[in-house]
Amino acid sequence: MLMACVLAFAGCSSSLARRARDSDGLLGFLMDKPVTNPPLAVEKISSGGGEITSAHIKSYGGKVYVTGVVRRRIGGSLPPGSHVDVIVVDKSKKIVEGVAVNYLPRDIPYGSRGLTPQSQYIVRLGSMPASDSTVKVILHVSNISGCEFGERS
Ligand SMILES: [Zn+2]
Repeated sequence: MLMACVLAFAGCSSSLARRARDSDGLLGFLMDKPVTNPPLAVEKISSGGGEITSAHIKSYGGKVYVTGVVRRRIGGSLPPGSHVDVIVVDKSKKIVEGVAVNYLPRDIPYGSRGLTPQSQYIVRLGSMPASDSTVKVILHVSNISGCEFGERS
């Protein structure tokens, strides 16, 4: 009887933990369908042993996100600390907003059993960029702690 209670409690708390993690994380976001995909210019800038293979702007629940996929090039490697910079530039090339974000998993997995080795990133923008601005998504092969663009807390 006691055992059943303990198990029930453990099950409950772990599902709560999972829900908390999902609602605040990549998975929770990606499982939900975004409402719009605004037509903004997006520039993907790869470097070193990796590349930004996708970058999408999505508006969801009144907030704006930039999300996509990072892959390692064949035979390439990405030093620890490599991350993604998302920079919004207006039509006069002025930086409106810049955010650094880690991709997950941090070590881009090697492909196994037909899975494509890739990591994902997601970052929230402060506001929807103007329609004539450009969103640059840059693979920054350098430690995030030294990046000129801070992580959004
Ligand atoms: Zn950076």
